[in-house]
Formats: sequence, structure tokens, C-alpha cells
Amino acid sequence: MEDGPGIRTTVFLKGCQLRCVWCHNPESFTRTPQSIVLPNGATKTYGVEMTATEVFGIVERDVPFFRASGGGATISGGEPLVWPAFVESLVTLCHAARIHTALETHGVVPRERLEKIAHLVDVFLFDYKAEPIDGYRRLTGRAAPELMGNLAMLHEAGRSVILRCPIVPKVNDDDDHLRSIARLAAMYPQMPIEVMPFHNTARDKWSALGYDYALASCDSMSRPAALEIGRRLVGFGVPESRLSIGGG
Ligand code: SF4
Repeated sequence: MEDGPGIRTTVFLKGCQLRCVWCHNPESFTRTPQSIVLPNGATKTYGVEMTATEVFGIVERDVPFFRASGGGATISGGEPLVWPAFVESLVTLCHAARIHTALETHGVVPRERLEKIAHLVDVFLFDYKAEPIDGYRRLTGRAAPELMGNLAMLHEAGRSVILRCPIVPKVNDDDDHLRSIARLAAMYPQMPIEVMPFHNTARDKWSALGYDYALASCDSMSRPAALEIGRRLVGFGVPESRLSIGGG
């Protein structure tokens, strides 16, 4: 599953320092609640202010499902670690209650924020989008010099990491990028690799929020095209046994 094993309750935290051109959750760019007017005139609000204890109270209700399925809580965003104290509190509560936790992160965060919670998180869903300096600057609006060091730190700490690779046609599906994914797979031989094929379902949200969507005319990646990305990765050396292709 794309957000971790078993049945999961996902907590989305608003706020992100990146601006990925393909972002599926543009309502997460800002840290504060945000409202849009729907075509039928109704208002939809993204975000509500809650404490970690309040959120844990909701997550905890699903414990029977977690126990039956091997699931747990996934903390997503945005980038959860723009709220380091909140994340630390929530994963501490989950850890104490023996609730499995997955943390989705773009990884472009101060190392100490990851180090502080590393022992409390069961699996990190760690993004790898492009070449960390010019590639990230071009596709996410910000260079990512801390990315590789953070990935190495999690491995050195013995943490479980799944590398998640959003792939967008004609944006980052070139051989150089796929080869760089294969190099990371070789460098970290236990790390699963997950391809996240582009889909354009967020197009309406971008426009409703008043943002320009550079990929407005880009179609979702078809399943055959996504499988072809997988074949190319295998050709570049990614073991098939460690590769999964997410839904398009
Ligand atoms: S890191 Fe995630 S939430 Fe942030 S802009 Fe990129 S895709 Fe969107």
C-alpha cells in the first residue's frame, strides 16, 4: 500500500517548504486553514487546528483495525516535519500504545528533526524526486543539499526506509534520473523502491486555490507506462523483488 502496511489512518499536516510542480496536495502548501468556493457555491475548508493529543484520540479508535490487519498510523502532508514538536508528540503517543507508525517525508528538513524521532517511527516513506541540487531547484523550487545526508543518517541509525519516487512523464522520467534511483538501490541493498506514477487529479484543486498548475495539460500516467518505468529501472539494476509500482 502506498501509505504503509495494512489498514491505516492517515493524518495530513498542512505546510510544506517545497512546491513540486506535480503536487497532489496543494492545499498543504500553507500551514494555516484555507477555504475555497466550490462550483456549486459551497465553501470547503482545508485544515483544522488540533493538538497531538486530540489527533491521537482519533487515531486510537482504529486500533482494532490496526491489530487485525497489521496496519497503523501514517503521518503525511505537506511535510509533517514543518511541525516537529507535534510529530514528536504524536509518534511518542503511538509508540507507547504500540501503534505502528509510518512517516511520509520529503526529506529536505534539518537533520536533527529526523534524528529526534527516528527511533519512534517504524517506517519512513522518504521521497526522491530528482537530482538534489539543480533538479530539486527546477522541480520543487528549492535545492535539497540535506537530502542525501538525511537518507544516509536514517540507514546508519538502522531505520526502515522505503524510497518513494514520483515519476512524471517528460519531467523526471529520463534515463539519468532512473539510473540515479538504481544507484541508491545499490547503495542501500535492503531499501524497497516505490514508483509513484503521476496522476493529474489535483488539477482542479490547484486552480480553486488560485495557483498556476504547470502540468495542467499533462495526462495521468497510464498503467502500461508506469510498468515500463519499472522495466527500465530493473534494466538499470533495481532488483525486481524490491520494486513496486503505485497506482496511477
Ligand atoms: S513535498 Fe509533497 S506536499 Fe510538498 S510540494 Fe512536494 S508533493 Fe506537495
